[in-house]
Amino acid sequence: MDSSLIIGAFLGVVIVGYLLFIRSQDLPTPEPVSPFKYLDERRASIYESLRDLQFEYRVDKLSDADYQTTKLELQKELARVMAEVDRIKAELGTGSTVVAPPPPPVPAQKNVCPACGAKFEKALKFCGECGKPMGASV
Ligand SMILES: [Zn+2]
Repeated sequence: MDSSLIIGAFLGVVIVGYLLFIRSQDLPTPEPVSPFKYLDERRASIYESLRDLQFEYRVDKLSDADYQTTKLELQKELARVMAEVDRIKAELGTGSTVVAPPPPPVPAQKNVCPACGAKFEKALKFCGECGKPMGASV
């Protein structure tokens, strides 16, 4: 039964090809994790700690000195987080991301003869049809 062998081989090729195709399609593109997410969480937790601290101070659970010291620590930590955010923002702003090329200039219709309306592949100084000036500065 030669034909079944051929069919089997053909199916094998199709299946392998299909699997390879699926593989290449299914490769997970890694979700870009925002570097700010972690920092945002840090910042949020610092704000929370500051709130807790103020509450404890207000209900007289903390001494003045303790309150000031801890508050200073938290504010320093907050400043560090904010500086890190700024640093990452600056990094992202200065070319680690691909800058999209400027859009192509809108064709100024200099490839269309104003006199006879003939259209050309590119801007011309003079019309190839009627010889009138077309305004291209080339
Ligand atoms: Zn013309």
